[in-house]
Amino acid sequence: MTLAVIGAGAAGITAALSAAKSGARVILLEQHPRVGKKLLATGNGRCNLLNTSDPTGHYYGGGAEAALVLLRRYSAKRLLEYWESLGLICREENEGRVYPASGVANAVVDVLRQRLTEAGVDVRNGYTVADIRKDADGFIINQTLRADRVIITTGGKAGIGAGDATGYHLFKSLGVPMKPLLPSLAPIKVDPSSIRGMKGVRARANLSLLADERVVSSEEGEILFREDAVSGVAAMQLSRFVDSLTSRAARLELKIDLLPERSQRDWSDWLISHSHDTNASVEDLLRGLVHPSIAARLPRVARMDGNVRADKATWNTIARLLRDWRLPVASVKGFRDAQATAGGAAFSSFDSETLECRIIPGLFAAGEALDVDGACGGFNLMWAWASGIVAGEAGSR
Ligand SMILES: Cc1cc2nc3c(=O)[nH]c(=O)nc-3n(C[C@H](O)[C@H](O)[C@H](O)COP(=O)(O)OP(=O)(O)OC[C@H]3O[C@@H](n4cnc5c(N)ncnc54)[C@H](O)[C@@H]3O)c2cc1C
Repeated sequence: MTLAVIGAGAAGITAALSAAKSGARVILLEQHPRVGKKLLATGNGRCNLLNTSDPTGHYYGGGAEAALVLLRRYSAKRLLEYWESLGLICREENEGRVYPASGVANAVVDVLRQRLTEAGVDVRNGYTVADIRKDADGFIINQTLRADRVIITTGGKAGIGAGDATGYHLFKSLGVPMKPLLPSLAPIKVDPSSIRGMKGVRARANLSLLADERVVSSEEGEILFREDAVSGVAAMQLSRFVDSLTSRAARLELKIDLLPERSQRDWSDWLISHSHDTNASVEDLLRGLVHPSIAARLPRVARMDGNVRADKATWNTIARLLRDWRLPVASVKGFRDAQATAGGAAFSSFDSETLECRIIPGLFAAGEALDVDGACGGFNLMWAWASGIVAGEAGSR
C-alpha cells in the first residue's frame, strides 16, 4: 500500500512517521527544497511546540470540538512522551508553553528530518502538487504519481511567501466543501493617528474588542504597538473576530485597560493626591504608572498639555484613560502577518476519529488545512502534531 502525504510541515511529517511505523510505503511531497521550513520561524525561532494547559476554549472553527476530543486522546503529556521517544527533550515555560530544551526551532526540524530518513520515508523535496484525481485504483497526483491513499497536510495561508503554493485547490478539485479563509493571530490595524509615537512600545494590559460597545472578547497579556496596528499576544488572540465584524458593526474598537489593579476612582484619587503632594505635571506623574511613551500619549488623547499640572476634572479623564483607552479598529492585517488561518477544509466532511474524508474514502487531512485554528501559546502546532499522528495511523491501516 502506497500512501502519499502532501506537505512536509508539522502535520505532514508526523503523519508520514506514524504511517511508516505502521508498515506503509510513504511518499512525502514538499514544494520547498527542505522539509519543515515554517517550523524554523515559529515561536520567534524557538518553536513553541505545544501547551500543557487545558485546551478547552483554545480552539475555534468548525472542527474545534472534535479537535478537543482528539487532543484528549493525544494529550500534551502523551505528545511530550512522543517527542522524547523521537529524541527531543522539551522544557515547559510560563503559561504551559513548551519549547525544545535546546531553545532553537532548528533542533525540532533536525530531529524530524533524521527520523524520516530512519523510517524510510521517501521524501521528495521541490515537488509541488498542482492537481490530484481519484479513480477506481486510487489517486493520481500531478498526472504521474499513483497512491492508494493520500493525506493532505498543506497547511494554511498564514505567514507563507507570495509565490508559495497551498493545498486548498486540491480539496476543491476533489469536491471537499471549504469554509472561508480568514487571517487569525494577526496584528489588529487601528487608526495610526491614535497611536502616533508609540511604535515598538510594549505593555501588559487587559485588552477587549468592542463592537458597538458590546464586548466581543477580552484577553489579558502583552500588547505591542506598531506604526498602524496593535500586536502582541493579547491583540493577536482577538484578531480572528475582527474581519467578520467589520461589515456588521458600526463601531469596532479596542479597549485597553492598562492598570486593572485598581478602580478608575482609586486611580483618580491617587493622581489627585500625588499631584497635590509633588507638584508634578501630568506626564511626570504618569511616568510612575505606565511606559514613558504612553505617559506622553495619554494627555494628547485627553487633548491637553502633558507638561502642565492638571485640575481635578482632568485627572478624572486621565484615570478613565488608564482603565479604558479606546482605539478605533480599521481591520486585521493580512495573512502575511498572521500566524494561523481560520477556515479551510470543512471539518464536517471528515470522520473526527480517523480524519478520513466521508465523501472520498482514502483521502485524509490534518493540521491547519482543516477548519481548526488555535490560540497563541503552542495550540496550533499541538493540533498539527496530534492530527498528523492520527491521520498517519488511520491512513496506513
Ligand atoms: C511566524 C509564525 C510563528 C508561529 N509560531 C507558532 C508557535 O510558536 N507555536 C504554534 O503552535 N504555532 C505557531 N505558528 C502556527 C504554526 O506554525 C502552524 O499552525 C503549523 O505550522 C501548521 O502545521 P501544518 O503542518 O498544518 O502546516 P505547515 O506547517 O504550514 O506545513 C504545510 C506544508 O505543506 C507544503 N505545501 C503547501 N502546499 C503544497 C503543495 N501544493 N504541494 C507541496 N507542498 C505543499 C508547505 O510548503 C509546507 O511545508 C506560527 C505561525 C507563523 C506564521
